[in-house]
Amino acid sequence: MLTLTIKTPVITYTQPLGLFIDGQWVEGVRGKTFDTINPTTEQPIVAVHEAGPEDVEIAVRAARKAFTGIWSRTSPTDRGKLLVKLAELFEEHSDVLAAIESLDNGKALSLSKVDVKIAAETLRYYGGWADKINGKTIDTDHEHFTYTRHEPIGVCGQIIPWNFPLVSLTMKIGPALACGNTVVLKTAEQTPLSGLYAATLMQKAGIPAGVINVLSGFGLTAGAAIAAHTDIDKISFTGSTAVGRSILQAAAASNIKKLTLELGGKSANIVFNDADVEEAVTWAHLGIFWNHGQVCCAGSRIYVQSRIYDDFIKTFKARASAVVIGDPFDQDTFQGPQISKVQYDRIMDYIQSGIEDGAVVEVGGKRHGTKGYFIQPTIFSNVSRDMSIMREEIFGPVCVICKFETEQEAIELANDSNYGLAAAIHTTDINTSIRVSNKLKAGTVWVNTYNSLSYQVPFGGFKESGMGREMGEYALSDYTQVKSVRIRLKSNL
Ligand code: ADP
Repeated sequence: MLTLTIKTPVITYTQPLGLFIDGQWVEGVRGKTFDTINPTTEQPIVAVHEAGPEDVEIAVRAARKAFTGIWSRTSPTDRGKLLVKLAELFEEHSDVLAAIESLDNGKALSLSKVDVKIAAETLRYYGGWADKINGKTIDTDHEHFTYTRHEPIGVCGQIIPWNFPLVSLTMKIGPALACGNTVVLKTAEQTPLSGLYAATLMQKAGIPAGVINVLSGFGLTAGAAIAAHTDIDKISFTGSTAVGRSILQAAAASNIKKLTLELGGKSANIVFNDADVEEAVTWAHLGIFWNHGQVCCAGSRIYVQSRIYDDFIKTFKARASAVVIGDPFDQDTFQGPQISKVQYDRIMDYIQSGIEDGAVVEVGGKRHGTKGYFIQPTIFSNVSRDMSIMREEIFGPVCVICKFETEQEAIELANDSNYGLAAAIHTTDINTSIRVSNKLKAGTVWVNTYNSLSYQVPFGGFKESGMGREMGEYALSDYTQVKSVRIRLKSNL
């Protein structure tokens, strides 16, 4: 079966279930399928076809054929038009896409709608770049004419996570296609549905067969086959640092693929005495509890200066206790379920370890309800530097809060992490904001805001949070390779 009618609480639609390879919907070579689970009900939604290494092989061949064939003959302007067309189709189909995201991922429908909007805008943004990818001429001497070309890298393997399925997909295919690459994309096994529906829109947009291939499948089989494939030229991966390491190893052991890795985080959120407490609480709250804490740059370590600490924690606790947890399709829901039983158990284990290590649960710490993977927003205090809840990425609605005295101490605490994805500062003093931003070892620093991401602004990690940058103009350099051409000139003197 390659399609099925699915009824969500807000819309009924036709869900594709196959693998999307070379512009066709097919079953996997091994004929296997797997269930995707609704995290709200813990029940299967539907079974999708599973890609194995053989399917990766076929998809890579299709992507290579498209790269050297039709896509190489498609002008930059036409590549841009196709991305803009896809953006329009995302907007036209936004109700279905948002409903699929909430069904499969569990995020509140209001959040899914924002995700779809951002996904469409990201496609349009990169569509605009397609005809603006230029090299340089370099004036070296009178004997040469020298210029650079920014050429596409080739076939790109793209492996995406489950926390922002559609946004991740567009962040990856947008710059890849704008620069003239072709793609074999694997969605996360927890959330295959929106990527498959998006593939129907790619067909509708007229993107040529083989330019984007979308596979549902598991990390250890399809994902590992992409990482090890010798005819994939580049990988862009978003996910855990542990898997990022294995992709680095596979790239090194195979064909030295170019890599963009967007990995884990344990981001610090620093609130200074002069901050507006109400506003700082709002951003600290969104920083950790938005998308159920399933955000790689979540502000999971909160440092508050001593004079306002008591006031801050009182307001912060009140805000966390008031969170509406429930069915993602209920209008008032802010927080839906965690993505899976595996993640639910992992988060609850971290909460337990925090309690056993002597940290104090200020709010939350328990399951919410009896069905679905719901966890109460949880705030820990009395946390020391060596506790695992302080050092490790939990990827759930769990944060630690600590008091600090001086700016120097805040910087030192914030930088005391193997990760370096993001950080934030709350202050009304422009000097503090710039001085401290300069000192923080993180790829993004927010001031008086949090999780303020934009497709126009580069995003990526320092330290073990990754390499390369996604989004903005900077992403283009990770999807092109520079060729220098030097032409010796004949003198006519
Ligand atoms: P999480 O633990 O949050 O699920 P992962 O890093 O395991 O995050 O998964 C992110 C993406 O990486 C998913 O698409 C997953 O299938 C894929 N993945 C997992 N393991 C591997 C692997 N060994 N090689 C390639 N991809 C993998």
